[in-house]
Amino acid sequence: MHSLWNNDEAANCNSELERRVYTSRLLGQDKSLVLHGGGNTSVKITEKNILGEEEQVLYVKGSGWDLETIAAAGFAPVRLEHLKKLVKLPALPDPEMVNQLVTHQTRAAAPVPSVEAILHAILPYPYVDHTHADAIVAITNTADGEARIREIYADTVVVIPYVMPGFDLARLCAERFAAEAGVHTIGIVLLNHGIFSFGQNAKESYERMIALVNRAEEYLKQRKAWNVAPSAVAAAHGMELASVQARLRADISKAAGFPVIVARHADDKSLSFVRRADISTIAQQGPATPDHVIRTKRLPMLGRDVAGYVESYKKYFAAHEPQAKERKTMLDAAPRVVLDSELGLCAVGRSAQEASIVADIYAHTMDIILRATALGGYRALPARDIFDVEYWDLEQAKLRKGGKPLPFSGEVALVTGAASGIGKACVEALLARGAAVVALDVDASVTAMKTGANFLGLQCDLTSAAQFTQALVQTEEAFGGLDMLVLNAGIFPGGCRIESLKTEEWQKVMRINLDANLMLMRECHPFLKLAPRGGRVVVIGSKNVPAPGPGAAAYSASKAALNQLARVAALEWGSDNIRINSLHPNAVFDTGLWTPEVLAARAKHYGLTVDEYKKNNVLKTEVTSKDVAELAAEMCGPLFAKTTGAWLPVDGGNDRVI
Ligand code: ZN
Repeated sequence: MHSLWNNDEAANCNSELERRVYTSRLLGQDKSLVLHGGGNTSVKITEKNILGEEEQVLYVKGSGWDLETIAAAGFAPVRLEHLKKLVKLPALPDPEMVNQLVTHQTRAAAPVPSVEAILHAILPYPYVDHTHADAIVAITNTADGEARIREIYADTVVVIPYVMPGFDLARLCAERFAAEAGVHTIGIVLLNHGIFSFGQNAKESYERMIALVNRAEEYLKQRKAWNVAPSAVAAAHGMELASVQARLRADISKAAGFPVIVARHADDKSLSFVRRADISTIAQQGPATPDHVIRTKRLPMLGRDVAGYVESYKKYFAAHEPQAKERKTMLDAAPRVVLDSELGLCAVGRSAQEASIVADIYAHTMDIILRATALGGYRALPARDIFDVEYWDLEQAKLRKGGKPLPFSGEVALVTGAASGIGKACVEALLARGAAVVALDVDASVTAMKTGANFLGLQCDLTSAAQFTQALVQTEEAFGGLDMLVLNAGIFPGGCRIESLKTEEWQKVMRINLDANLMLMRECHPFLKLAPRGGRVVVIGSKNVPAPGPGAAAYSASKAALNQLARVAALEWGSDNIRINSLHPNAVFDTGLWTPEVLAARAKHYGLTVDEYKKNNVLKTEVTSKDVAELAAEMCGPLFAKTTGAWLPVDGGNDRVI
């Protein structure tokens, strides 16, 4: 670990708060220091209030902000004198502590201050930095962790036994710091939790953090407990394991009471960890630092016995709930981390983003466990301490901040022909509703069409069953299932009358518009059948089904056959709780096919202006890709929960169809 401080970058900071933002981000960039909202920082600044009086303000990280991306607005300004008085109280219940923090801010719109704000306030230094450094938690999560910490740091840190974050921890730190801090003290180690550093300026506090953590890393290296890199492990990938993963996701979703994403990680590190002979001991101790519990639950599930996991979670709740200060309602009992000798590590979340946070946290947890094991044994906090944090209102509030889940959160949709036009709009509509979306297209641009954990773009020629199978395996590995299928890919060949229609041309249209969709439906069926809320298929058809046009025999026939295929599927798959409905759009001009030149030529052909041509329907309205996509997405939602086998026009009204 080395300091990322850069004099030129630091010179661009024009205030203490800006320097605070700068070094907070430096900490956030190093995942072995803080992960996903973990850790917090502060700076004490003297300011003039509206009356012209000077007062000291503690700018402390606001809840909901991440150190890696924090901005000045992410720091909550709290009056320091008040916080210093609060710590003298004999007790302060959590809700009142939060009330005091929020009501003593100098900016009404500031975020809620960190629950560790009072601890920051009592340390007599302008800058305070706090992380959950991997090396510190690896050493403190051992039987003789405290002795090791004292050996490493001597009188440079004050050592605090584990106490739940909040008022009690702040009070204990205030007492111990007053009694034990000396001229050499530059930090505080919180056993089984993390580390604080402090200093007169941003650089000093930050670089003390780096130096302190380095000493822990050196200690691990000297004891051959640092390098835990795995050897290469052969991972199996294929349809068989994809099915196993989909079954697992169905079971976990059922236990959770809502659909979840299950992302598989079959990398060397995960596989060699799950295959260790001592896995049932080392992975069943508890999290590396208590605040991970809200993401990972206390224990990973070993193997695939979800019912067994749920039973033991209920026992854990029943054992610890009676000791809680107020009554608690049990959270869902589903696992968030699964360790399976064949699958590797599976991370579970209500969205792909959540699952990736879980995977990141557990990747660090594995290193921490292995390092502690190399020191003689990983030993996490007792279950009752973890329970207190898991069921702590202030931690649960962090999760609630995410708001109400979107309608398709935890669900997976696959869209074909996704690189442009209606397909691309379907990707947008499904992402906007919270689904994880797999976008397939023969055009390679699909892979870079979107970014983010919820998106997977794959180049795929749908006339190749082998390519599609590969895409389906990748879909399962990334997200664990398939809930929605949008069959959009198709071709519209140039006009050609039947007497000149070549058999090869006819067959090519049939292969893409019809045969490929039969193959897709057949291959997706076992996965759609496992969808927690039932599978849904939307077929993007054409006005040409109810009202064919001359010169489009192959296209009209292929779409009509696809329509009939969908209706038969509706009959056959109803008992599998899979709904399938068709949309018949017409005259959607905002697609790649329709350049302004082509549009102008066609309009002229009919003696219309471009605008008249676009709105040449009963309602005199333009139909866009987005209109079609929104309806396709709605057809997957609760509004159409009781509709299957339907075919619906989306064409502004067509007199031939009506
Ligand atoms: Zn902490």
